[in-house]
Amino acid sequence: MFATTTLADAAKVRWDVVIAGSSFSAMFFLRGLPPDSRVLIVEKGELVDHATQIEQRDDRAKDDYAMTNTSGHRKDWFAHRLFGGNSNCWWGQTPRFHPNDFRLAELYGVGAPWPLDYDTLEPFYTEVEELMEIAGGGTEAIFPRSAPYPYPPHIPARTDIACMKAMPQSWFHAPSARSNGGSRPTCCANGVCDLCPIESKFTILNSVDSFSRDGVSLLLQAEARHVGIAAGAADGLVVRGVDGTEVTLHADLVALGANAINNATILLRSGLTSPALGRYLHEQASYEIEADIGAPNYYGGTSITGHCYALYDGPHRRDRAAVLVENYNSPYSLRTEPGRWTDRISIKLIAEDIPQAENRVELDADGEPHIHWQGHSDYAMRGLDHAIESLPDILPFPVERIVRQVLSITEAHIQGTHRMGDDPAASVTDGYMRTHEVSGLYALGAGGYPTSSPVNPTLTLSALALRAGRSA
Ligand SMILES: Cc1cc2nc3c(=O)[nH]c(=O)nc-3n(C[C@H](O)[C@H](O)[C@H](O)COP(=O)(O)OP(=O)(O)OC[C@H]3O[C@@H](n4cnc5c(N)ncnc54)[C@H](O)[C@@H]3O)c2cc1C
Repeated sequence: MFATTTLADAAKVRWDVVIAGSSFSAMFFLRGLPPDSRVLIVEKGELVDHATQIEQRDDRAKDDYAMTNTSGHRKDWFAHRLFGGNSNCWWGQTPRFHPNDFRLAELYGVGAPWPLDYDTLEPFYTEVEELMEIAGGGTEAIFPRSAPYPYPPHIPARTDIACMKAMPQSWFHAPSARSNGGSRPTCCANGVCDLCPIESKFTILNSVDSFSRDGVSLLLQAEARHVGIAAGAADGLVVRGVDGTEVTLHADLVALGANAINNATILLRSGLTSPALGRYLHEQASYEIEADIGAPNYYGGTSITGHCYALYDGPHRRDRAAVLVENYNSPYSLRTEPGRWTDRISIKLIAEDIPQAENRVELDADGEPHIHWQGHSDYAMRGLDHAIESLPDILPFPVERIVRQVLSITEAHIQGTHRMGDDPAASVTDGYMRTHEVSGLYALGAGGYPTSSPVNPTLTLSALALRAGRSA
């Protein structure tokens, strides 16, 4: 574990690097830094051990955000505020981005360009997967790899087995940070992964020794408010303690890993003026679907076992979104007919979104974040409509009846508010997540995504943060 410090003591030192946040983006950035650098981690929340989190369950500290929502649909954005951030509550899904997710603008003329490609990120993906002890396999046809997955995939559900046989080029094991070998207990497939009772899922807290080292200190319950800037370069972080006192912590480099809404808020407060800053807030649009089918399901080894790419990449992305199908092995509801209890499928259709400038984070009169949300793009909704129509055709068993079909209120993936890019007029950071405007200032995390990809963001943002740390 890290040595902890106090605000008063932290202010006496000039640090090599100060990092706001203590979750994936902060920790993988730290891991990439030179091993002799003197680093301070500034975390707004408390350190809450696993047993106490189990006691608190749904009462774990959360940030909710003020929002003007004109979409006509309920929309939630939230994040957990404690040491390890959302790693405490994430589900542990760890797909890589599809190579063409990085080339959407170039290949299909849609969205903003990425300043790097899959091959550039590949070694960092591999390193993050090693550290997280990811279980997976069988996806090499789509995702070139320099090393095999560290651990084998979980046992597929019975519907996955049927789908893999029918669609060997597009239905795969879902890679996961829910253990199937390694230092953590093997997943027990109980389906409550947002607070894994047996510590099977990778969290920053249960893997903290992979990140801690001499020369790194942790300051808890201290909120990064804005970046100190001198002569166009980062000079430190202004931090507010629990008693409201604000103190400047001086440093040569500053990195923000506080999530896309909080990072944008801190950058706006710091006076950065990039036209893209705070804008393009987005995440995937998704439908949760349960359907009665003419085949048995479940009996897989973890909560989500299958990924289908049949509706994902191709020329259709000029007009409608790529869609990922996630197959849940968690029988949230069963059939009641004798002998047919498990003849049901529970899936999610997840569409990439095209970020829109009007979806944004602004500062309110008190300097706090206020979200303006007008909804997902028509591009995303066209992708979902097509996926819903196509589903009965791609599944290799009869779909007898849709039992439930709901547009999700959140994917809990906060993305896009400080997009990366080569053009300083259209982006906030470069491909190493260094702000164009202020040298020595990094904005980490999925806030850097120029476009969304249908897949979960965390493996990619961790790989990007590791690469950013190596550049420092
Ligand atoms: C229920 C749930 C399930 C999810 N499942 C998946 C999944 O299966 N796969 C996947 O890829 N993604 C998943 N996600 C998304 C994933 O959790 C995020 O992509 C990831 O946590 C982002 O990492 P981060 O380090 O950028 O930010 P966070 O994890 O949000 O961490 C930010 C940290 O900064 C701290 N902080 C905030 N403001 C300040 C401040 N002003 N000063 C100092 N510290 C601050 C916070 O307390 C926190 O520790 C899920 C999210 C949720 C909520």
